[in-house]
Amino acid sequence: MKILIVIFIGVLGAILGSFYACMGYRIPNKIPLSKPNSYCESCKKEIKWYMNIPIFSYLFLHGKCAYCKSKIDSLSFIVEVLTSFLFIVFYLKYGFSITFFISLVLISVLGVTMVSDFRYYYVSDRVVILGLISLIVLVYFEKNFMFYKIISGIVMFLLMFLIKIIGDKSFKRESLGGGDVKLLGLIGLALGFYPTLISLVISCSMTLVYYFLSKQDEKEIPFGPFLLIGALLVLYFIPNFNFI
Ligand SMILES: [Zn+2]
Repeated sequence: MKILIVIFIGVLGAILGSFYACMGYRIPNKIPLSKPNSYCESCKKEIKWYMNIPIFSYLFLHGKCAYCKSKIDSLSFIVEVLTSFLFIVFYLKYGFSITFFISLVLISVLGVTMVSDFRYYYVSDRVVILGLISLIVLVYFEKNFMFYKIISGIVMFLLMFLIKIIGDKSFKRESLGGGDVKLLGLIGLALGFYPTLISLVISCSMTLVYYFLSKQDEKEIPFGPFLLIGALLVLYFIPNFNFI
């Protein structure tokens, strides 16, 4: 029975991952989510449903458009695989618990943000707000930690906002995106104060490694995905993360 649930959660993760990646491309470009149907970026031909099956279509088509053979962005494939994988991994660790559902919210925001931030340096307000609302509902059921987590979210947001203002003043340009500040509020609400600080250290380290590996000199660095990956690592590897 459990294997059936795992398969179901994995398939759900892949389908939602595909949807999140689509959101990640469309929201920054102001394309409505409802229509048009998916189409190839270069030849503009509509992608038939059987060529749009998460994970498998990309492998089957060898990452190329079926009509014009131009390369399909592998990032959506990565998001589909990662979302499916993380859904399963967190289910196996936490079962159907509040912690599992909190992880689903973070994974979902990660799916959209990975595409929008890596491709367009954009973190969607709407997605962060949807995440915040879902988390407030979930945190409500963690009675003992509800106030601690809500305060943590607000404090993290204000703290990052302060760092941003100081950073902007000292570097005379935008040091930290507004989206990143809001994401930290979201993570503070999901994890609580101290775990969020730990996740912030992990995220900054990953961002530094990415910076040196990608050798982008003066360009913006997408920080959002790393913030969320750091939070998910803490949520997974520090089981008693509800400490004060
Ligand atoms: Zn094409």
